[in-house]
Amino acid sequence: MKFLSVLLLALSAASAKNVILFLADAGGVPTLNAASIHGYDEAQKLYLQSWPHVALSDTSTASNWVSDSAAGMTAIVTGVKTHNGVISMGADTVRGKQDGARLKTILEYAEQRGLSTGVITNVNVADATPASCYAQANDRRKFGEIFMQIFNPRFGDGVDIVMGIGRKPIFDSAKELGKDPEEAAKGRARTIYSALADVPASDARPIVVLEKDMDVPQAAQMALDRLSKSRKGYFLMIEWDAHTDDPKKGLDNLVAFDRLIRDIAGKVNLKETLLLFTADHSFELRTVGGRRGEPLLKGLEEWKQKNTPKEVVTIPAMRVGHSHTGEEVPVAAIGHGSQQVRGFLPNTKLFEVMLNAFGWRKD
Ligand SMILES: [Zn+2]
Repeated sequence: MKFLSVLLLALSAASAKNVILFLADAGGVPTLNAASIHGYDEAQKLYLQSWPHVALSDTSTASNWVSDSAAGMTAIVTGVKTHNGVISMGADTVRGKQDGARLKTILEYAEQRGLSTGVITNVNVADATPASCYAQANDRRKFGEIFMQIFNPRFGDGVDIVMGIGRKPIFDSAKELGKDPEEAAKGRARTIYSALADVPASDARPIVVLEKDMDVPQAAQMALDRLSKSRKGYFLMIEWDAHTDDPKKGLDNLVAFDRLIRDIAGKVNLKETLLLFTADHSFELRTVGGRRGEPLLKGLEEWKQKNTPKEVVTIPAMRVGHSHTGEEVPVAAIGHGSQQVRGFLPNTKLFEVMLNAFGWRKD
């Protein structure tokens, strides 16, 4: 018996080289279910829904039952619950007024240990979800302050690959602080591109900030081409927004994200890579009807012609409000270390899941 446990310990001591965190913003259980029906006219047909290890994650914050993306992502990447609006700072932060403890993110742990790191999103790359990986701020709206931290890293040489949108709000916000992101990038021998196509193969650490419309699969491919060259491994976060204020847009996004995750899972070595999927919070979407063979979103176009986007979407099969909601969100995992994902758990546990997979200890 003792021999067996020693053997098991020895086997499990081998660590994951890479972790990829897939974040469907607002992709709760009801949205995942609806995306499968919307995409495949069948429940549980998403690729994700074939993953062997599943859990339900509580998303409450240090002060509220319902989380925003800032508190939600901070918990996932630092293991600490904070307040809504706060980017990877502790619960001693007063939003917009006073900094709290600067929390160390899983991306920073990776940087400190010489791994390569990346953050990809289809939204503003200085907004809450991506920002919580590479920056600390007492208010998520401080885009300039957040983005400039890329050039002043606390660990390693800072986040290596950054791809997202929000060029104008980020540059405007930096300008208000008297900062010039392009100058700062130059000082670090880096370039901020305004199109994915502009990135030369020779740039191993590209920063891409578009005005709008990020091609997430293309960005992910470019990032993986570069990150997979890292001898020590990598941490990559990929966010694809799944808010369903516009149900078609949100569900299409999640179906496409799932396809991308399938592609990536087919390319990486799952013996040395952990793939982790979750959402930062759930969303006010309910399937209240519908039948096989009929589009889930039947009646949506007619509804849009008669109503404003601010109203609760009411079509035969769905009711969709505009609020985040407080129930648990899905966590799914495959690959090295994925067996840790089971049962009901707090979102802060996901930080430990990633840290354990890498075989690191918390500071
Ligand atoms: Zn969110």
